[in-house]
Amino acid sequence: KIEVAALRKQFGELVVLKDINLKVAAGSVVALIGPSGSGKSTLLRCINLLVTPDGGRVRVGEDSFAFGVGSKPPRTRELARFRTNTGMVFQHFNLFPHMTALGNVMEAPITVRKKPKAQAREQALALLAKVGLADKVDEYPSRLSGGQKQRVAIARALAMEPEVMLFDEATSALDPELVGEVLGVMQKLASEGMTMVIVTHEIAFAREVADRVIFMRDGVVIEEGPARQVIDAPREPATQAFLGHFH
Ligand code: ATP
Ligand code: MG
Repeated sequence: KIEVAALRKQFGELVVLKDINLKVAAGSVVALIGPSGSGKSTLLRCINLLVTPDGGRVRVGEDSFAFGVGSKPPRTRELARFRTNTGMVFQHFNLFPHMTALGNVMEAPITVRKKPKAQAREQALALLAKVGLADKVDEYPSRLSGGQKQRVAIARALAMEPEVMLFDEATSALDPELVGEVLGVMQKLASEGMTMVIVTHEIAFAREVADRVIFMRDGVVIEEGPARQVIDAPREPATQAFLGHFH
């Protein structure tokens, strides 16, 4: 469902992604791990084209774009369509502060998808219930905990009915006691068959929920394989060293 081929990205002189190849099968979960600065966020942002790659191909579902010499850049409308098909959840929740939880979840379906308001509302209520926030629909973000805000952010991404979900350290900014409730929602999505790419430092969660784990360093995929194999018995010294910090 997601396919990245020969992906390259540099910022000025700094080459951040060097010939990245990856495939995420429909309904599977891939965890992306690696040290700070290895390019995980940049790769995720290239997958939903928040960042424009310098070369290579990116496919999500039926939509595929090529970048680099000889390829023509995607048009704005194609890009917008592509992005709504890939839901993204960030470390910081980026909720609209002047809207309630319900308002936050209804917003994009109404403005972008032109959904009738009543229908958007019904869907938003169902999604907020799904993430365990049925009793918080009328609260403003300032009155929600970090874990609750992050669950609203997940519901908001799901409201666009994306084919895939991308999570960039969705639990890193949370107090430890709030991490579990967000991971629980992610696990539920995974078990329902959502195709997901998760950047995470929660190694135990990656081992439990991901089908495959990719270890990156310096913009290169160093090791990739079934989650338990990569985490329990990494083959590459760099992966061993990285995972050693977590044991
Ligand atoms: P972390 O675990 O700290 O989140 P990461 O693996 O997500 O790290 P990236 O955020 O992808 O790493 O960054 C990879 C490299 O690219 C870093 O050296 C970073 O400084 C650089 N970088 C990222 N975004 C930009 C940008 N917009 N302009 C210039 N350099 C950038
Ligand atoms: Mg990052």
